[in-house]
Amino acid sequence: MTVFNDTSSKSHHAELLETLKRYSFLSGYNLAFYCRHGGGEAPLPRDWQLCRVDEGPPLCSRLCPSVIDKIVNTAVSSNKPKVFRCPAGLVGFAVPMRSSAGQFHCLIGGGVREKSLDLYRIEALAKTENINPFTLLEQLQNLPITTEKAVEETADRVSGVVASLLSAGADTPPADKLTEKLHAVVAISAGIDKAKTAAETISLLCETIGLLFDIPGIAAALPDDGNEGFSLQGAWGFPIAHERLTTATLHRFVPGNPTGKSVLSGEEINELFPGTDAQSALCFPLAAHGEPVGLVVLFNSDLKAGDDLLVELLTGRAATRLTVLKREEEFTRESALSGRLLTMVNSLTLAEGKEELCHRILEMGTELVYASCGSLMLIDESGETLRIESAIGMNRQLARIMNVRKGNGIAGRVAAGGHPMVVNDIEKDERIAAPNRPRFKTKSFISMPLTFKGETLGVLNLSDKKNQGIFTEADLDILSPLVSHAASMIQRASSHESIELLERLSITDPLTELYNRRFLEKRMEEELSRSLRNGLHLTVMLMDLDNFKTYNDLCGHIAGDKALKKVAKILRGSVRDMDVVTRYGGEEFCILLPGASKKESIFVAERIRRTIENEVFAGEEDLPQGRLTTSIGISSFPEDGSSANALIDASDIALYRAKSEGRNRIVISNSAADPETRGFPSPLVQRKQ
Ligand code: GH3
Ligand code: MG
Ligand code: MG
Repeated sequence: MTVFNDTSSKSHHAELLETLKRYSFLSGYNLAFYCRHGGGEAPLPRDWQLCRVDEGPPLCSRLCPSVIDKIVNTAVSSNKPKVFRCPAGLVGFAVPMRSSAGQFHCLIGGGVREKSLDLYRIEALAKTENINPFTLLEQLQNLPITTEKAVEETADRVSGVVASLLSAGADTPPADKLTEKLHAVVAISAGIDKAKTAAETISLLCETIGLLFDIPGIAAALPDDGNEGFSLQGAWGFPIAHERLTTATLHRFVPGNPTGKSVLSGEEINELFPGTDAQSALCFPLAAHGEPVGLVVLFNSDLKAGDDLLVELLTGRAATRLTVLKREEEFTRESALSGRLLTMVNSLTLAEGKEELCHRILEMGTELVYASCGSLMLIDESGETLRIESAIGMNRQLARIMNVRKGNGIAGRVAAGGHPMVVNDIEKDERIAAPNRPRFKTKSFISMPLTFKGETLGVLNLSDKKNQGIFTEADLDILSPLVSHAASMIQRASSHESIELLERLSITDPLTELYNRRFLEKRMEEELSRSLRNGLHLTVMLMDLDNFKTYNDLCGHIAGDKALKKVAKILRGSVRDMDVVTRYGGEEFCILLPGASKKESIFVAERIRRTIENEVFAGEEDLPQGRLTTSIGISSFPEDGSSANALIDASDIALYRAKSEGRNRIVISNSAADPETRGFPSPLVQRKQ
């Protein structure tokens, strides 16, 4: 007995249903077999009975037996597949089947609906059937959506499949062999469903086909990693050199009907598999939801009747698995990416200063989309010019001078428009149509605006995708969370920096870049309380350039300013890091020496006095003494006072004495109680040689 040649047996209906259910184009349908009640020839009203269903009767068969009766009669009498519509508005098909014994049966497919539901119809139906209209509506809403045209196509297709399955038993392969194959296919299908990778799916598929149908060679095409095409390779039997197929080529071999097999011409065999001496090639597309996900090619195959249906079953199953795996992989990649992005974005907070922040953002951008070059540009204070803040794969000096005006060039246009740009080929892109610059290896790049609260702060440019790849919209999606976060962080860093700058300006003297008097007063309070707490000395050194007015008069203000800058440099170079050098007034300086006693400070003061004396200042030879010099007054905590004012006053008095005693000298505040100064001449006078 063959499997499907006698449709009178219920167990055969079950097997046939089991087989049909495995076809992906029938997924979503409820299938049911109807046979004639009493076996009479003439169709009587309501004489068709449900003899086998897959999972519960289709909604239509429950709700509208009269419609089923009518459609089955029509299909059977015309011996053609028919499409029908039930009172609830659902679409279904009826496919008549004639068994070898000449009996008619009918396969009904239903349980699918068109996009819009006729509420008026549903309400009327619920009333006549005495059911809750909302429950009915809910049931109907959950059904798979299709179109009447698609149902028609499915009916034709299923009709062909059923005919093949039924005739298979009458053909050459012995029935038990076919049964065996079917069982093997069913078992392997379950294995395919569990395959962990695309490679595993393909190897299981090709191995099964090869063994079960005695195929000498099989090749398979699967999407590349980057999803930019397909790679074709030997999967069973003889090896085939690794080839790449574009999606367009694959579509050529999987035309129109993506689930149907096709026979390759000799020319096509040569084109796809140069060097193979295959006589024939049978192409089975791997397609899910109409989209090709791959291709399996059987070489020199000798498929028996019915075998191709089993191969289609297997390829359909493999295609579904590949789609599921792809989705899972995308999901895993997305979750891994969000995790990585989160870590990256968190690490941005560790950046010290805007410069480091920009560099980290650029590094992350290049890493996320596999770019080997890039730059991060920020709009400067003028609001009109973009400057490169950080660059990768570009000469630093070059990067520094590469300014772009907003609106000009690619980055300038992105900054002005506030929209990202993904360019596949700079030379072919209508928006640009410019020759590729020699410093770029590939013609594809991405340019994204860094926007915060509607304001463009800069532009992130990434180019030269690794492995000569092309940037796509998907890369934009990957970058956008980083870019939006980066923009807000840059904004924050900029305002921090401007606050810091303001603060720094408020305590710095612009000419000499030394701290100013305001800062000195603050620091002196802090240093005094620290010295008090720790029982340490604090020395205050006040100095004033000698006859500086005359120097200005003789040499001019510009030379005077230069001399002040030079003195500031000498002072900075003469003290320790912990000492505080300030410009106290016009040509007056004050130095705080925490922890230093008068004795120790004398050496510092003398070093300063001597260095200034020996330094060459333009035009100083015209001064009365022939040299620009300084006078210094020194006081210390605790002996000369314990407040800032007292110490400054004491230094000032000492300085005044230094001036009155002839200038170019150091005078230490005269405190009798100071044991440290004992042994030092007071005032200590150092004269020019
Ligand atoms: P003395 O030896 O008594 O200190 O004589 P002096 O001429 O240096 O007198 P005083 O300290 O009173 O003079 C300060 C002069 O320093 C006045 C001004 O010409 C000059 N001066 C002050 N601030 C600046 C400045 O920022 N730039 C320049 N070029 N000169 C300044
Ligand atoms: Mg002065
Ligand atoms: Mg002076």
